[in-house]
Amino acid sequence: MKPITIVWDVDDVLNEFTRLWFEKALKSQHKFNLLFEDIRENPPTKILRMKEQEYFRSIDRFRVSEEARNMSPNPYVLGWFKQHGHKFEHIALSSRPLSTIPALSEWIFRFYGSWIRTFGYVPSRKDVLGSTNIKKNKHGYLKWLGKGDIFIDDNTDNVLTVESLGIETILFPQPWNNSTLGVGKVLNLLLKYNLK
Ligand SMILES: [Mg+2]
Repeated sequence: MKPITIVWDVDDVLNEFTRLWFEKALKSQHKFNLLFEDIRENPPTKILRMKEQEYFRSIDRFRVSEEARNMSPNPYVLGWFKQHGHKFEHIALSSRPLSTIPALSEWIFRFYGSWIRTFGYVPSRKDVLGSTNIKKNKHGYLKWLGKGDIFIDDNTDNVLTVESLGIETILFPQPWNNSTLGVGKVLNLLLKYNLK
């Protein structure tokens, strides 16, 4: 039987990057009276009263910080991998600026390298020259790659565009999307594909 390949988003799926950024980098500076659960838009510039440039500068700087390099994996997701990871093939696919990719790559293989052996990225800022337009977003990347049976991501736009390729998609629950499922339910959903 051909193994099922799962394509995993990295930030806010394999890890809890935005929560960590919010609690460590943002809240300590601004002393917002907000909770992580209040971040109901992506990017959360209106809620946080930040200009887009200021927001991206803050998260991109945090992405290469020691704290982010050593962030813990999402414990539920890591637990799922320990129990079920060997039943599937895995690809990690991130949308980030190139300057943050070496640190993320090290992070992925340090924590998930027993199961994930393929990592790709699409540049989230215009910082990569020499790449064709085909690979400018996750939809284009996966269309080019021609691999992936299930795609899991917290970004609604990514989920909708990848769905159009005929790939099964799962929206990973975060405050800024409208997923109605809990993390445990979402991870259980993956197992049903293995039974086909
Ligand atoms: Mg994400």
